[in-house]
Amino acid sequence: MPGLELFWLLLPLAAYSGYLTGRRGSERSSGARFSELSQTYFSGLNYLLNEQPDKALEVFLKIAEMDSDTFETQLALGNLFRRRGETDRAIRLHQDLYSRPKLSSEQRSIALQELGEDYMRAGLLDRAEALYTDLLNVGSQEPAALKHLIAIYQQERDWTRAIEMAVRLDQLKGGGAPLIAQFYCELAEQARTQGAFDEARSTAQRALRTDSKCVRARILLGRIERNLDRMDLAIEHFEAAVEVDPDFLPEVLPELLDAYEAQSACHQARDFLDRMLVRDRGVSAMLARSEMIERTQSRSDAITFLADRLHQRPSVRGVLKVIDLSFAGELGQRAEAVGLVRELLHRLLDRKPGYRCSRCGFSPRALHWQCPSCKSWGSIKPVPGVAGE
Ligand SMILES: [Zn+2]
Repeated sequence: MPGLELFWLLLPLAAYSGYLTGRRGSERSSGARFSELSQTYFSGLNYLLNEQPDKALEVFLKIAEMDSDTFETQLALGNLFRRRGETDRAIRLHQDLYSRPKLSSEQRSIALQELGEDYMRAGLLDRAEALYTDLLNVGSQEPAALKHLIAIYQQERDWTRAIEMAVRLDQLKGGGAPLIAQFYCELAEQARTQGAFDEARSTAQRALRTDSKCVRARILLGRIERNLDRMDLAIEHFEAAVEVDPDFLPEVLPELLDAYEAQSACHQARDFLDRMLVRDRGVSAMLARSEMIERTQSRSDAITFLADRLHQRPSVRGVLKVIDLSFAGELGQRAEAVGLVRELLHRLLDRKPGYRCSRCGFSPRALHWQCPSCKSWGSIKPVPGVAGE
């Protein structure tokens, strides 16, 4: 409903018009102008109520023209243009506003700030970058300018500069360590895909020094060591990752089990899985442990183990495993029935998203370190629940 949205956008302007009413009402000489202004405002409101936002905008433009000297009115109008997607108009207006000779230094930096928002909205990133860098250099609006620059460098995937700005913002406001660590991880990931493992390792370690709770850095270090066939170190990093955040167990478990096997570290694997089971860490550990029991003891021991665990913690994946173990090699009609149950359970599993963003609820099918929907970092995790983990 565009009319209603426009109404909210115009509220500041309306309030300001009310202020004019009060101020101008006391001046006898401008009485005529005031009544023209308020009449214009109310006819604009009328258009709005009749859901004719374009006509309403025309009317409000007229108000703004009549009151073109006032900084706040122009600011509201520029904001309106930008929110309507008319970035060219917003840019012209803010440039004009900025070049007025009588502005205070605070008004000037507000105008610049607005202009920067216009550039961002119009996708003119290099212009926005230049502008925010200028703002930064004169020491004005520093946190806001830094935030915008971080957003720009993220979009350009210029992680080195993003780190530089995030460190400066952290010095001003604190709390920036997790973000800085994510940026280091981006750099480390790049190095790893290029096969520059030493550089990847030292960059991931920097991420970890910045934020000791950075799970991504731990996982990355594990993968780097695995790439280099240093399985003992890989195991250490993967285990540490799960210590920091057990929700990531299903993410690293296949690689971790691989590493145990390459090291023939059966006891270490069993101890680790048992530790996870005591802490009730999801289905992955239970399934892996049952496979281990099947290999080292017997199939019926594995079924007993699973049945026992499933009473405490029901899960679709667990039931599926019991069916697989119990009815392997089944023939005839029973095999058909078992096949049907298995297929239905698989379809139930497929419907559940594998991951979810704790900030916005977005459910991607793969792990993203930056949420594609709300753009926050490190907010997406494997999903717990009956069908998921
Ligand atoms: Zn999100």
